[in-house]
Amino acid sequence: MIDLLALSPDELSRTLAAQGLPAFRARQLRAWIFERGALDFDRMTDLPAALRARLATQATLGTLRAVTEQQSADGTIKRLYRLHDGHLVEAVLMPYDDGRRTACISSQAGCAMGCVFCATGQMGLARNLSTAEILEQAWRFHAELIARGERLSNVVLMGMGEPFHNYDGAIGAVRRIIDDLGIGQRHITVSTVGLVPGIRRFALEGLQVKLAISLHASTDPRRGALLPVNRKWGVEPLIEACRDYQEQTGRRVSFEWALIRGENDSPEEAHRLGRLLRGLRCHVNLIPLNPTAGYPGAPTGPADAQGFAAVLEQHGVPATVRVRRGIDIDAGCGQLRDRVLALQEEEEATDRA
Ligand code: SAH
Ligand code: SF4
Repeated sequence: MIDLLALSPDELSRTLAAQGLPAFRARQLRAWIFERGALDFDRMTDLPAALRARLATQATLGTLRAVTEQQSADGTIKRLYRLHDGHLVEAVLMPYDDGRRTACISSQAGCAMGCVFCATGQMGLARNLSTAEILEQAWRFHAELIARGERLSNVVLMGMGEPFHNYDGAIGAVRRIIDDLGIGQRHITVSTVGLVPGIRRFALEGLQVKLAISLHASTDPRRGALLPVNRKWGVEPLIEACRDYQEQTGRRVSFEWALIRGENDSPEEAHRLGRLLRGLRCHVNLIPLNPTAGYPGAPTGPADAQGFAAVLEQHGVPATVRVRRGIDIDAGCGQLRDRVLALQEEEEATDRA
């Protein structure tokens, strides 16, 4: 079986030509897959029936199998996919009242970074996803939305995994999401735990994609205790890479800060963060911790969270507190959802500016 979703336009043309098919068939197929969002060959009614039958036995559109799906009252869909070799990954679709439809997709099955408060980090890494497996998560939502007369407008790589630990897979998928799904670059976000070589490489891609950095602490001892990767690339080289990224791309950086009660939410910590980020064009998203089974920390309360944001504002660092909303399907989704909302608000602010 050959996965047509995994083929570039050239590869698809060559594959069909090798079967004795004319070049326009490749264009027709791609239009069905990406523009019209056909999830199977049966729908491709202007292809000869014999060709459709042959494709159905020799080719597939993607390799993911949905195993469960939960839908919340507000329309958020959280889906669990099984990969061809049995590993599981999550993808989430979030609808917003203003018409935006945001997919949050995974770049790895599990994650090797071991951040202590993260449910994915607690499971360890199973493997990298291929570009096609990452693309497919977004493509399925894209196709389903087309069928409902809607369109996928935003994609965030904030699901399972560290995108820069699977750099080629993730950036390959970003390029195909732009080219094949037609999603605007500014409506795509890549979030990283702070792999400095990845940030430096990303700065040279010439992409207008948003970059989010999971910071969570501003001193090496504290950040190292939460995010083991900090022992390799500490706070200083990380912020330096962000400053260089900004200089090279002219783009603003987002910082994610999970507020953990008594751990990283004091006014002194806020002042230190404010000083650290001074002069960097950025935005800080403050998200009260979403408790997970493997970590004893608790979320910061609303008043302290607002106080933290106010201190950052004193330093001229824009910050938004996202209060986790009650999502009836899974707390993890709430976390994801709020993070994405924060990014969208920023996007609106940037668009207005
Ligand atoms: N690996 C990438 C992208 C996926 S994680 C990264 O770490 O940036 C998406 C975001 O969720 C990150 O900012 C991560 O730090 C945060 N996160 C993970 N677990 C969390 C939790 N329990 N509560 C709040 N934020 C969490
Ligand atoms: Fe979780 Fe991201 Fe850390 Fe991986 S890098 S463990 S996904 S927070």
